[in-house]
Amino acid sequence: MEKQSIYGLTIEELTNWFLENGEKKFRAAQVWEWLYQKRVKDFSEMTNLSKNLITKLTDQFVINPLKQIVVQEATDGTVKYLFELPDKNMIETVLMRQEYGLSVCVTTQVGCNIGCTFCASGLLKKNRDLTAGEIVAQIMMVQHYFDERQEGERVSHVVVMGIGEPFDNYDNVMNFLHIINDAKGLAIGARHITVSTSGLANKIKEFADNGLQVNLAISLHAPNNEIRTSIMRINRSFPIEKLMAAVDEYLEKTNRRITFEYIMLNQVNDRPEHAQQLADLLKDKKKLTYVNLIPYNPVSEHDQYSRSPKADVLKFYDVLKKNGINCVIRKEHGTDIDAACGQLRSKQMKKEKATTK
Ligand code: SAH
Ligand code: SF4
Repeated sequence: MEKQSIYGLTIEELTNWFLENGEKKFRAAQVWEWLYQKRVKDFSEMTNLSKNLITKLTDQFVINPLKQIVVQEATDGTVKYLFELPDKNMIETVLMRQEYGLSVCVTTQVGCNIGCTFCASGLLKKNRDLTAGEIVAQIMMVQHYFDERQEGERVSHVVVMGIGEPFDNYDNVMNFLHIINDAKGLAIGARHITVSTSGLANKIKEFADNGLQVNLAISLHAPNNEIRTSIMRINRSFPIEKLMAAVDEYLEKTNRRITFEYIMLNQVNDRPEHAQQLADLLKDKKKLTYVNLIPYNPVSEHDQYSRSPKADVLKFYDVLKKNGINCVIRKEHGTDIDAACGQLRSKQMKKEKATTK
């Protein structure tokens, strides 16, 4: 059987493992520090542990389950990583340089079953969920990459916006959030973490109760059910009314801001009347919501879509602003290196198919 990654354990779970194995509790704290503060890559480097304990740990766990296959660095500093999992599946992780720090975009599943018609990740059906350890390991691979440069740069922000639907892998994603948020570990602040969902209304309600101050983003992408169903199948199960009811409950419980993501698709959802419908939809929650207008990243398999012209994006933005809706037009990152979710992976898989033919 595949050994489990120790990165998948919360500090409570790690402490329990030590107690169950006849070890002292403080040993768990020491290992935690080696993993997340000193960030060693091998148990043998944990020099304040006994040989016996190191053997026990090595027998039971691996540290990092990922293998780096491709790294691409864009001119704007964006770095895209392709990693191989122990079962040979591949995932992508993206590092973006923002004015406020280093932000990592993590993958949560191998493929995605939601199947949005504009998305490269949804082209490949979900093969499996990632474990919490495999999600934490993505952050650690990026942090190690910067540790090696010895410039003291730290991953300060995390967005759960890579391949997969995080709320379709809810428990592992919640454990991941607890692990990276732990004050004695990576200590990535909850307010510096954003989880993006395609709109699983039942899970949005559950997320409201989880106690972490993590930001929520919702991929809305359309102002009415007709358009939304045509581009996001999930809208059949959770139409806009159900989604908005969950949003209201979330806002009520948490009083935290929600971001609505809206990809601008030329002639599909980018007309001024769509902007008006969107403003009407959000008018009773203006204070706690904002809209992120996202340029469409062309996906060759989805050639029915193209990017909205700049003038149309500005018109759309103006209608929202006139209605008092908070709104930003998202800046792009790493366009010269296939930085859109799923693109590097789908390219690599095509290459492999071509060479195995
Ligand atoms: N499954 C989650 C999180 C991963 S997708 C979700 O859908 O929210 C992260 C974001 O990238 C989503 O807002 C998604 O709609 C967007 N996205 C997907 N394909 C895109 C593309 N080709 N161009 C621009 N954004 C895209
Ligand atoms: Fe899945 Fe999100 Fe892509 Fe839709 S946009 S297919 S939910 S990864």
